[in-house]
Amino acid sequence: MTPGVLNRWHGLAAGLLGVLLLLQQGAHAVAAPFSLAAPNAAVPRPASSASSSSPRHDLSRWCERVSPRLPRIDRKQCVRSGLAPTGAWSVRRVPILSRRIAADKGARNPLRILLVGGIHGDELTSSAVVFEWMQMQAAAPRQEFNWHIVPVLNPDGLLARKPTRVNASGVDLNRNFATPGWHKEAPAWWVQKTRRDPRRFPGRAALSEPETRWLHQEIERFRPDLVVSVHAPFGVLDFDGPAPPPERFGNLRIDRVGVYPGSLGNYGGLHKKIPVVTIELPNARAMPSAHESRRIWDDMQRWIAINLAARPLPALATDEAVQLRR
Ligand SMILES: [Zn+2]
Repeated sequence: MTPGVLNRWHGLAAGLLGVLLLLQQGAHAVAAPFSLAAPNAAVPRPASSASSSSPRHDLSRWCERVSPRLPRIDRKQCVRSGLAPTGAWSVRRVPILSRRIAADKGARNPLRILLVGGIHGDELTSSAVVFEWMQMQAAAPRQEFNWHIVPVLNPDGLLARKPTRVNASGVDLNRNFATPGWHKEAPAWWVQKTRRDPRRFPGRAALSEPETRWLHQEIERFRPDLVVSVHAPFGVLDFDGPAPPPERFGNLRIDRVGVYPGSLGNYGGLHKKIPVVTIELPNARAMPSAHESRRIWDDMQRWIAINLAARPLPALATDEAVQLRR
């Protein structure tokens, strides 16, 4: 082959590669089901949808898909939640949404609380109950705490034809957090204790998944004084971390479920020393009564107010620390 022919061949190959890349990007743009604004240059938004799109319109579309999966939450309630884009996406490119509720000025103990539902997509009530609590909290006469609320961390699991515990990559997100020694302990635990149960696959590496990577970063950014993680169906409370554990929220009583490599309770409570309450609702598909849902919420707020103090923010000027606490 002469150099000239070789150059032409290279040019042709580069051209083909370019066309393939364009096609691939186009396929992504078509496959991306939502247009909630997120800083992601890899998926260009078509100009038409960018001009017609608004956060409320996008939330409405998100709710149209998500709310049919949620017991006792209809689309209107979902839209009223006021959830906003976080910039994070699931594996299947569904946005992960959250709501911030700021403490009132003059709140005595404006703790920062991260509340997460739907880590396991087949625990439908663990997302639905968070929507109910968001409504209760938004309607409360005073805001004592700074809330950061994420009702659906695993939208792909929730939206799967048959909802799944794992995300779209087949990873159990609650075994994928970066607990010390993860690379040895998590795979060994999966093989030996679960006999390679596909519902409990911890992933190939800690934080291999976009959903866990985002929550991990969010814990670093938001610096919660408390993490509340909602699950089902064991009907108990679990607690990890440096604070007196709650004894009872509603009918749920404390009963330590155990410590798992890669779990959020293990990561937050034992490794990061942030108190983590795990609420295990008694049923993954049937909601607790409205009365019981309210009691769990009220009891939790009381326990927080009595037992938790805001953690100091080191190495910050006082006014910066005050800003961060808002
Ligand atoms: Zn769970």
